[in-house]
Amino acid sequence: MTFTKSILDTLRDLLPEQRPLGLHEPEFGKTEKALITDCLDSGWVSTVGGYVDRFEQDLTDYTGIPHAIATVNGTAALHTCLVLAGVQPGDEVLLPALTFVGSANPVAQLGATPHFVDAETETLGVDPQCLADYLKEITELRNDICVNRRTGRPIRALMVVHVLGHPARMDELAAIAERYRLTLIEDAAESLGSWRGKRHTGSWGRLAALSFNGNKIITSGGGGAILTSDPDMARRAKHLTTTAKRPHPWAFEHDAVGYNYRLPNLNAALGCAQLEHLPERLTQKRRLAERYTTAFTDIKNLHFQLEPKDCRSNYWLNLLLLPDAEQRDQLLAAAHAEDIRLRPFWTPLHQQPIYADAPRMDLPCTETLFARGVCLPSSANLGGKV
Ligand SMILES: *Cc1c(COP(=O)(O)O)cnc(C)c1O
Repeated sequence: MTFTKSILDTLRDLLPEQRPLGLHEPEFGKTEKALITDCLDSGWVSTVGGYVDRFEQDLTDYTGIPHAIATVNGTAALHTCLVLAGVQPGDEVLLPALTFVGSANPVAQLGATPHFVDAETETLGVDPQCLADYLKEITELRNDICVNRRTGRPIRALMVVHVLGHPARMDELAAIAERYRLTLIEDAAESLGSWRGKRHTGSWGRLAALSFNGNKIITSGGGGAILTSDPDMARRAKHLTTTAKRPHPWAFEHDAVGYNYRLPNLNAALGCAQLEHLPERLTQKRRLAERYTTAFTDIKNLHFQLEPKDCRSNYWLNLLLLPDAEQRDQLLAAAHAEDIRLRPFWTPLHQQPIYADAPRMDLPCTETLFARGVCLPSSANLGGKV
């Protein structure tokens, strides 16, 4: 109990007295109110209006990725990425077991099967070495299609997740995807503002998805975006997410079974305002991560997760690793008793009943990270004013 107590004492010293203290809270100011009022005054709150175009342009300017297509949420963005990657019923898609369920659900909703791969400790993302060894063992290329020899099913895509905002090892993972003819998709829902070297997360994949849900680093209320550097993919993404309607001044003609996934203009206005605050928010979040690092250095057997080498992480959620699940649960219970709302990692997807039968490799690192991980309050304002 003294171990739990010293962590909790440290947290109490570092954090404000506000209770309940949530994991990640949104923050709005004058710009948000001004742009939303402007949007309301214009009357264009829904599927038409200038803020969607502006939000998409701002996202491409910020990330350096040439095309952005705004969507209603991150899950819809991922769903569209999978459709554009050619994922079909009966296919398999590789993705980490240590992620939010929103990464896997669109795979299953397409009638395809999520196939879980292990994480590594430095990035929390897919372990390239494990993945390469595993694919060598279980797959073969037939007519340039990667086939799982155990199930006979095509493996169509590799979805990489930048977990808690930390960039995965993209050069290695992109090379594996190419070698095995897998379409590379990045779930960058948590990693807006995270860079590996000079490249923003989402720039390695053929397609990538962002989320602007209320708990992400910036929010549009609900929202997401598809990112790609392929102009043809971008055109198809826009078409498919806007009911596949042919451009025409009055006729409603649709050349595919499309989706109504377009971000409403009102949400886009909020997104534009939030994006203006992203740089200062990133500074605050780095400062918070530094404060945590310093505060926890003197506690033995405790590890605070730092950004991977050569990366600049947005530190979306700060992570502590405790010695084991028992210590983790003690800390969670003690913190919740005083309304500091710490969280464990998501229960890994292979341990969720809905995905218990999905194919997978051994997942020792995923299971260890889940057993040991506790996410700390990470709202940007906890880092102090810029
Ligand atoms: C938030 C999140 C999503 C889903 O985004 P929504 O906008 O909530 O649909 C998908 N994947 C990961 C890793 C996420 O954190």
